[in-house]
Amino acid sequence: MNLKALIRPSIAAMKPYSSARDEFQSQDNNLVFLDANESPFQNDLNRYPDPQQVLLKTKIAALKQVLPNQILLGNGSDEVLDLLFRAFCEPNQDAVLTLTPTYGMYGVLANLNAIENQSVTLNSMFQIKIDDVLKAIQPNTKMIFICSPNNPSGNLLDTKAIEIILKAFGGLVVIDEAYIDFTDANSWIERLPEFPNLVVTQTLSKAYGLAGIRLGICYASTEIISILNKIKPPYNINLLTQNAAFEGILNQENTKKQIDIILSEREKLIQNLNNLSFVKTIFPSDSNFILMRVDDANMRYTQLIAKGIIVRNRHGQPLCDDCLRITVGTPDENLKLIQALQTI
Ligand SMILES: *Cc1c(COP(=O)(O)O)cnc(C)c1O
Repeated sequence: MNLKALIRPSIAAMKPYSSARDEFQSQDNNLVFLDANESPFQNDLNRYPDPQQVLLKTKIAALKQVLPNQILLGNGSDEVLDLLFRAFCEPNQDAVLTLTPTYGMYGVLANLNAIENQSVTLNSMFQIKIDDVLKAIQPNTKMIFICSPNNPSGNLLDTKAIEIILKAFGGLVVIDEAYIDFTDANSWIERLPEFPNLVVTQTLSKAYGLAGIRLGICYASTEIISILNKIKPPYNINLLTQNAAFEGILNQENTKKQIDIILSEREKLIQNLNNLSFVKTIFPSDSNFILMRVDDANMRYTQLIAKGIIVRNRHGQPLCDDCLRITVGTPDENLKLIQALQTI
């Protein structure tokens, strides 16, 4: 892969904004900081946050066994994905490839950035049709998005197929691992040394229970990270988020406990859903949600709302005719779901 040829020329040439905290950093409380036009009155939030999030990245790097400068933090994964588009895709010229049905943000970001979205559908088991993917790659294809476990199908995508894409494709392969914490599968982070074109994204929004703080994490080579770092908004991770993320990541034990509960609840839910006459197929899940095909998704969706239960209607998405996507809730919420389904 030739990273210099992938990056947009205007991004390669630009000089990044240099903030006050980029130009002078110190933890010394005896220094008098008069360089950032902040309020001098202490309330724990009057100072700008660390633009490089050093403490948080050091913690994450140790946990994931990467270097801190292989990490970029974003205001949710959505910001990380947007930075990738803006760094590597020239509007009205370049393209990305997505594997549908998948997370809607890749297509939205492609539209937003005036980038063509070359979508290739997965097969009926929601696995990669490798020949179709290889055939669809064009000279202007800059990135391929692979969501594994995939949203909305819930399954991990085949390792061998992903390896073939990583080796054959000269652009970036972005693997979205928002749901990786719910599986025993190894993260693709471990394979970063092998594939210079690999980018992995994770989030604190799902298994860590911190969707409200908005923290997405991108792992890649130091070269790719330094490009994204150059174009990110200077103070993109606010102080409250940096602190809450640090605490959340420290609390591995609690997260593991909650994941275990969700996985055992998922298996119970699958058994109960299987007993319903209008449930036709339950697709295998490696995540905290279940995709199922019913007799009439629009009708069942509306009936559930009338009972106060909101699921995601995926009818109309490729390969998802009459499918509902259900997030695994607490034991009590799952019981309410099953009771509602038994009476509609
Ligand atoms: C939920 C989800 C995310 C999380 O996005 P954040 O912006 O980090 O909350 C990312 N990718 C996929 C596929 C998701 O389903």
